[in-house]
Amino acid sequence: MENNKEMRTWLDDLNLSHPLVIAGPCSAETEDQVLKIAHELKDTDVNYYRAGIWKPRTRPGNFEGVGALGLKWLQKVKEETGLKTATEVANRNHVELALEHDIDLLWIGARSTVSPFIVQEIADALKGTDKIVLVKNPVNPDLPLWLGAVERLASADIKNLGAIHRGFSTYEKSKYRNNPEWQIAIELQTRFPDLPLINDPSHITGKRDMIFDVSQTALDLNFDGLMIETHTTPDKAWSDAAQQVTPKNLVQIMTDLRIRKETDPEAEYNTQLNNLRAQIDVVDNQLIELLGKRMKVADGIGQLKKEKNVAVLQSKRWNEILGKMVLEGNDKGLSEEFILRLFKAIHQESINHQEKIINH
Ligand code: PEP
Ligand code: MN
Repeated sequence: MENNKEMRTWLDDLNLSHPLVIAGPCSAETEDQVLKIAHELKDTDVNYYRAGIWKPRTRPGNFEGVGALGLKWLQKVKEETGLKTATEVANRNHVELALEHDIDLLWIGARSTVSPFIVQEIADALKGTDKIVLVKNPVNPDLPLWLGAVERLASADIKNLGAIHRGFSTYEKSKYRNNPEWQIAIELQTRFPDLPLINDPSHITGKRDMIFDVSQTALDLNFDGLMIETHTTPDKAWSDAAQQVTPKNLVQIMTDLRIRKETDPEAEYNTQLNNLRAQIDVVDNQLIELLGKRMKVADGIGQLKKEKNVAVLQSKRWNEILGKMVLEGNDKGLSEEFILRLFKAIHQESINHQEKIINH
């Protein structure tokens, strides 16, 4: 993919004409399975062949990976197909074994990124390596943890770094297995503009029929590549069966995806874009003005409630506002989810203001 980052990275050195693709099964199951999938991915856009060797399962009793034995199968993949190899490492021992078996790309899983001790142990074990090391976002939506893990690896003199966005767990019901919370990935890009950023639609969606849409969104947001779990018989996979696609599906997905350029030099495009952006700036300023005005009114209500010693929260009134705004928003093409989030934030700010007034 076209790359406009300032520093040259390992990704630029690959000189790809398309986004980076990492594909392969969630787990290495048998030697036959690993080799069969690899041969089917051999003459496609796939750049790295992934397979989990040690599987971090949430509950015991599920398949926990074949262990070091599988590293030999990955070596065979490289010999037979020329594909470079990738696997997850979760402690010093995994790192040593992966390096011994010449795995080309190592990633830190979401359940490891949450633990600074584990990340530090892995960073120390990898010190100075020129292998590619990718850091998945932590399970919980916590940007500093993700940044911290990248910083620990950078401090260990690991130069070929990158990040994988695999979504965040939530207790609330969602159509995703892990909510994308795109804003967090965008903020990571802002903090580390030169860090290659890969999207993992498989773990975000948990369902194969949603993978295309999430991949397209990622490319629309300037992601540098995709990691997609691929299996020749997905429904029979020993882990993550519902989200794996066949090699044929994967090729179709890659064909259908529209690859966006970061920008276009054409003058007409730039004039129109600048014009629209100027309009956005005006509206944004109006929004802030209005929010400030609304807050002043809320302050007045706070003053009244204080005089009469009335509680700040009035749930009935609040529910009426929400219901009305959802309907109005719908009219303007704004989703219910957005309106609820927006008004909850506004309401919280009003409560904070009124709390201050009532208690001072
Ligand atoms: C995986 O890539 O198979 C995996 C276990 O992912 P995550 O760490 O994102 O859950
Ligand atoms: Mn998986």
